[in-house]
Amino acid sequence: MKVSDKKIRGYALKNAIAYKGKANQGSVISALFNEGMRKKDMKTYGKKISEIIKEVNSMNIGKQKKEFEKLKDILSERQEREGLPDLPNVSKKGVVMRLAPSASGALHVMHAINGSFSFNYVLKYGGKMIVRIEDTNPENTYAGADKLITKDAEWLFKKKAHIFVQSDRMEIYYKYAKRLINSEHAYVCTCPAESFRECVKKQKACPCRKLTNKENMERWEEMLADSKGGGFKPGEAVLRFRTPDEIGGMAHKNPAMRDFPLARINLTRHPRQKSKYRVWPLMNLAVSVDDIEMKMTHIIRGKDHMDNAKRQEMVFKALGKKYPWCAYLGRYHFKGMELSTTKFREGIASGKYKRWDDLKLPTVASLKKRGYKPEAFWKMAEHIGLSQVDKVFEKSDFFKLLDAFNNSSKKNQNNKETKGGKK
Ligand SMILES: [Zn+2]
Repeated sequence: MKVSDKKIRGYALKNAIAYKGKANQGSVISALFNEGMRKKDMKTYGKKISEIIKEVNSMNIGKQKKEFEKLKDILSERQEREGLPDLPNVSKKGVVMRLAPSASGALHVMHAINGSFSFNYVLKYGGKMIVRIEDTNPENTYAGADKLITKDAEWLFKKKAHIFVQSDRMEIYYKYAKRLINSEHAYVCTCPAESFRECVKKQKACPCRKLTNKENMERWEEMLADSKGGGFKPGEAVLRFRTPDEIGGMAHKNPAMRDFPLARINLTRHPRQKSKYRVWPLMNLAVSVDDIEMKMTHIIRGKDHMDNAKRQEMVFKALGKKYPWCAYLGRYHFKGMELSTTKFREGIASGKYKRWDDLKLPTVASLKKRGYKPEAFWKMAEHIGLSQVDKVFEKSDFFKLLDAFNNSSKKNQNNKETKGGKK
């Protein structure tokens, strides 16, 4: 295939602008492959590509930007849409994928990028995008986070996502808890935390592990019952997964997999449910149940959740379900930008920031106010790519690139509008 000098130059400039004025040969070549160039064409164009990159890299960034403005229209949109690798096991119905933020505050820029990985696949294959607001830890649930996240998600995914709030689904978690107890995959443990820790260390079962299902069901009812009526008090009982003995049980090679907790009593008043519930599912129960009930097909999540994924896979297996395909993302570190919902929350409370959409904050609400379009985040995710490698971004570089994606998406929109107007 023929690759024009202009096209090579366009990608070299684009890449240079994104990376401090220095284009990377590999990135430029991979962009050209996306344009249809084949490996064998490298014989013809390899030298030319190096020459052009060398020339582009010798220019200052101002010049690069000026020239890129003239050339960017010849770059194919395809390259940006097809930046993510194909997913395995996609059925005709498409994919069901999710963004599952905790209800600790509004969404910020990294939620937007992480959610966009999944959303891009939903756009590509069809199916369903789910936003699941995880608020089953009453202590870490920020009053109003459900509404803030809903608003952010509706904007970010253009009202195409199905939004769920976990605390509205408590009866479903209870149903599954009972199912796990009845199938001998869970038991209610009343050992003090410290003595259970000893059991984990010594790889031995606690006395509760051998209770009958009937005894466990009685204990479960006591967890749900008000302590005034003779029920357990917080800390007196937890529901535990019974790690199957076939895979080691309490002697599982990974201590984190040994009879981990599934539900606990917590009387902290919940901002959405008030005092309606006293037993709360822990993450590995709530997430497993929802991924089963919502028929998740593929999951993209941070690699810090690898152990949780292993626990959830065990819960799936105990319930006779096949675990979805999973990809893990490396950690992102931003130089010059702090991404902590807790810090934002504290800043808002102290008056440092006005609201969640304060222009000083890197929240979705603020970025929206600053004129960013959802497509800019979708494209950014494609550009970053699925990778387990940790990444460091300079704040200014990150936003320069986001600006570039934002400008091209605005331009596309304007084009569409003008075309529509002429009809
Ligand atoms: Zn016990």
